[in-house]
Amino acid sequence: MSRNLSERERRALLRSRLLMYHAIDDVCDDPNTLGTSPRRFREQMGHLASSGIRGVSMQELLEAVRRGEERGLVGLTFDDGYRDFRERAVPILKEFGFTATVFVLAGMFGGSNSWKHHVSPHVERRLMDREDVVRVSEAGMEVGSHFMYHAVLPDLALEELRRGLRESREVLSEIVGSEVQGFCYPYGLLNHEVVREVREAGYSYGCSIVERADGDEFDLLRVPLWDGDNLARLIIKRRFYFTYRRIKKLLRPGAPGDERVRQGY
Ligand SMILES: [Zn+2]
Repeated sequence: MSRNLSERERRALLRSRLLMYHAIDDVCDDPNTLGTSPRRFREQMGHLASSGIRGVSMQELLEAVRRGEERGLVGLTFDDGYRDFRERAVPILKEFGFTATVFVLAGMFGGSNSWKHHVSPHVERRLMDREDVVRVSEAGMEVGSHFMYHAVLPDLALEELRRGLRESREVLSEIVGSEVQGFCYPYGLLNHEVVREVREAGYSYGCSIVERADGDEFDLLRVPLWDGDNLARLIIKRRFYFTYRRIKKLLRPGAPGDERVRQGY
């Protein structure tokens, strides 16, 4: 297991921007807006590259943070482990010399996104199989765990939660041939107990979306991106997404958050 972060390193990591993607495909009528078209994705990556920013996996970002060299890096993450990550996203990432982290459901290889979505019916998408996971790892991408299946973790019994966290880490570590460090909370849903268990299962960090429990490397916030995010929106969201959310909450304290972000995946 890698060592814990120092306070300086933790602050540097929390200041770093992390982007969240799901599918990279041409489905244009997804009611859950989980897809970004390859054309749009290439445009977004090209914008980062031409701005002197490099997209990196969480593992690479953490290593850079430990060396004090995180400036100019942005973390790229992909949830659910769709087949199109291997087929569409990886070639574009390689084109720009970027890496990324893909969070995989370790009990659903080769299946489809059959879990409950915010809007139904949802668009069916295929998930990577074991071979795909090996290939993306060999291509320099980090593989992290998204649990065994797409569970609402705060609703699980403690034993089930513990088993899934450990088993998914073991299964994926075995497949990629190195110890899996990263975890990503399905639906972005977590609480103190869930975060504690992720820590105790041996992970080094956890990716959330907008929910926080401890406010450290185990519930990292990410900026969600969709196909609707053209260059202007990418620039604004990357810089101001969380400021905007805080202001919105201050102005409308009773208002729910972005429901799509809270419950969609
Ligand atoms: Zn997910």
